[in-house]
Amino acid sequence: MVSILIDRIGELVTQDGPARRDAAVVVEGDRIAWIGPAADAPAADERIDADGAAVIPGFVDSHAHLMFAGDRAAEFAARMAGAKYTGGGIRTTVAATRAAGDDQLLANGRRLTAEMRRQGTTTVEIKSGYGLTVADEERSLRLARELTGETTFLGAHVVPDGDPDAYVELVTGPMLAAAAPYAKWIDVFCDRGAFTGEQARAVLTAGIAAGLQPRLHANQLEAGPGVQLAVDLGAASADHCTHLTPADLDALAGGDTVATLLPGAEFSTRSPYPDARALLDAGVTVALATDCNPGSSYTSSMPFCIALAVREMGMTPAEALWSATAGGARALRRDDIGRLIVGARADLAVLDAPSFLHLAYRPGVPLIRTVLHNGVPQ
Ligand SMILES: [Zn+2]
Repeated sequence: MVSILIDRIGELVTQDGPARRDAAVVVEGDRIAWIGPAADAPAADERIDADGAAVIPGFVDSHAHLMFAGDRAAEFAARMAGAKYTGGGIRTTVAATRAAGDDQLLANGRRLTAEMRRQGTTTVEIKSGYGLTVADEERSLRLARELTGETTFLGAHVVPDGDPDAYVELVTGPMLAAAAPYAKWIDVFCDRGAFTGEQARAVLTAGIAAGLQPRLHANQLEAGPGVQLAVDLGAASADHCTHLTPADLDALAGGDTVATLLPGAEFSTRSPYPDARALLDAGVTVALATDCNPGSSYTSSMPFCIALAVREMGMTPAEALWSATAGGARALRRDDIGRLIVGARADLAVLDAPSFLHLAYRPGVPLIRTVLHNGVPQ
């Protein structure tokens, strides 16, 4: 087993207490083996000289839609010229995804996960949801499994043409049965123009009965039943949370559902941002994720989301980094990632900056120098 000493760290963010100076980290195999004062560091086979740079946990991107083909750059341009985002463009991606071969779908997923890795992301959740038939959802998840263990069945992404209740029966019946062997999570888009609270509850309940864990898209386009349904079902996360009532805030504060904010979606649809400050002040656990998808948020950059969270959503840089690392881990119910502690997975990033503050302070600048994933320099 190879050991690596990382020393001359300018600022070490562990998410386990305050940032440390003069600390070193030793990785053994795929785990963090030692953290302490650099002067006391044990010998290791290899060394990474951080040269005064900050070291942070790898980002945990707990919400991404990477199993698709094609892009929607023209739709983005039209929206920036004044057209409204309705979610209807998802159908364009569904047609392209169905027409793509397995190799093409997997290659696109690999391209995007590699792009994420270069930007410091070491864990990503990947949803299906652009197939919407039994065979296409099954293969999306089967291919996604080659990229991550955090796979999510999102057959209830958009209501295809026809009878919505009949589609919910398909999703909760044969489609779920085909998808479940490849999925850890079940998700549903509960919002205006998508699935109702009743339909969302039926989908999630069926998923739980099939051994999947619930999470959902809630309250992106308007206030609705999604957030309270998430808390009610003990979902790991309610994602978007852009339009919240006081009752939604109370429900999140009183439950153990993480509020996952996806500011790339508001940026790319030119919509008002969620009120992260209100969530944090109410004691809600907040995660940040990219929502990477070809329609409403085609960014793979967690640093960009951190910058938006700080500039537009009232989060401090420290809160935003926590939400992008430890918060994302909470949203995936994982305790082995998102923090640098002995025994955790050796997932970390060495920045091209002396402090993590630069992630928000220098938006759009590539500040990830080196990434360790499972202890392996990338
Ligand atoms: Zn999404």
